[in-house]
Amino acid sequence: MKNTDILIVGAGISGATLAERYANLGKKVVVVEKRNHIAGNCYDYYDENGILTSKYGAHLFHTNEKEVWEYVNRFGEWYPWEHRVVARVDDKTVPIPVNITTVNTLFGTDIQTEEEMTGWLDANKIEFEKPANGEEAVLNRVGPVLYEKMFKHYTKKQWDKYPAELHASVLERIPVRTNYDDRYFSDEFQALPKGGYTKIFEKMLNHPNITVLLNTDYFDVKDQYTGYEKLFYTGPVDRFFEFKTELEKLEYRSINFVTEHLDQEYYQENSVVNYPGEEVDFTRIVEYKHFGNQKSDKTSIVKEYTVDEGEPYYPVPNEKNQSIYEKYKEEADKLTNIYFVGRLANYKYFNMDQAFKNALDLFSSLETPNLKHHDARTTV
Ligand code: FAD
Ligand code: UDP
Repeated sequence: MKNTDILIVGAGISGATLAERYANLGKKVVVVEKRNHIAGNCYDYYDENGILTSKYGAHLFHTNEKEVWEYVNRFGEWYPWEHRVVARVDDKTVPIPVNITTVNTLFGTDIQTEEEMTGWLDANKIEFEKPANGEEAVLNRVGPVLYEKMFKHYTKKQWDKYPAELHASVLERIPVRTNYDDRYFSDEFQALPKGGYTKIFEKMLNHPNITVLLNTDYFDVKDQYTGYEKLFYTGPVDRFFEFKTELEKLEYRSINFVTEHLDQEYYQENSVVNYPGEEVDFTRIVEYKHFGNQKSDKTSIVKEYTVDEGEPYYPVPNEKNQSIYEKYKEEADKLTNIYFVGRLANYKYFNMDQAFKNALDLFSSLETPNLKHHDARTTV
């Protein structure tokens, strides 16, 4: 039997945050991670062309949470980076989120002011007081023509569902702008870590109280660890309750990342180019060297094909999955000293900052009484 105070399953944002917090509280922590690396889906590395590349898709940090921003800054330097995305639509290239330039380029209009753009949107949109799904959310904001050109088929490719089959919140992730602002996010803090995300996780986990075991699946070793105070599980919630065969499985989406190394300086003009149409099967192409303006004679691009099978990356937010998830949550709530935390364990479409906040909030809710008697520097 092996013992530890805190056992954590997964070395992504949720697991690493809880490991760091508990280690600083003086607890012995073991993190088991089934992959051969830390950092979860934020993992990045230098590829054969010397370009810092994210293994599981481009990761742009953005938040309005000052507490989260201050927390991540403890573990490395971040430089300002405002993400921009363009989309290829009807053989034209337009900014996404939809803004004045998007409409003028696609429809040959000559909108100049916010009032004119608001007027265009008002004339096109179909109003829904409370959009009940993704389709109504888009129609309510931009109307049917842009819905068809920019959202309907991209969503089908991404989720294998049309927007009407998804929560409104999925399509509401992207704003619509009445000005020329072409930034993908509007948050106050937008940045990338100097030298990459993996370095941040190394710093978080580099503590004498933390042991990280890579290539270790929790379900292979769980009988060896029984004497812990608390277990934090950050994998898919339905995998944990696999033995409850009466419970229906949750849906997930995975991505097939297809990389090409090219003997040319650049492939495209921007880090991310979306392909919202039906003419290709992939959703977007990422050219990593644009992030941080990296220099190399060569380049690498990654096409993203979203698929059903494979590692689960996305929960699929709709009513059906939410009601299945509630059943798992009931089971999870019955357990003592076992906590489910993170994007797949909570089955929530978290961005990175939400995952940090969720883990920090859980730690505070469990440990605030203990923190009162502890070094104040460990509080966040
Ligand atoms: P994860 O990062 O999934 O970590 C869970 C870890 O647990 C994994 O390492 C997994 O291997 C491990 N694990 C699971 N089961 C077991 C087991 N049985 N035994 C041992 N280990 C196990 N967010 C943004 O803010 N901006 C972005 O631009 C952005 N882009 C994204 C692009 C893509 C393609 C994806 C998929 C996500 C993106 N995200 C982005 C979201 C971000 O990746 C997540 O919010 C964050 O990684 C969630 O952290 P987590 O700790 O909950 O989960
Ligand atoms: N979306 C779309 N067209 C686009 C970009 C996004 O229809 O060009 C929709 C699609 O449903 C997508 C959702 O908006 O899943 C959220 O997009 P986001 O870029 O936030 O997705 P992620 O980066 O998490 O894959």
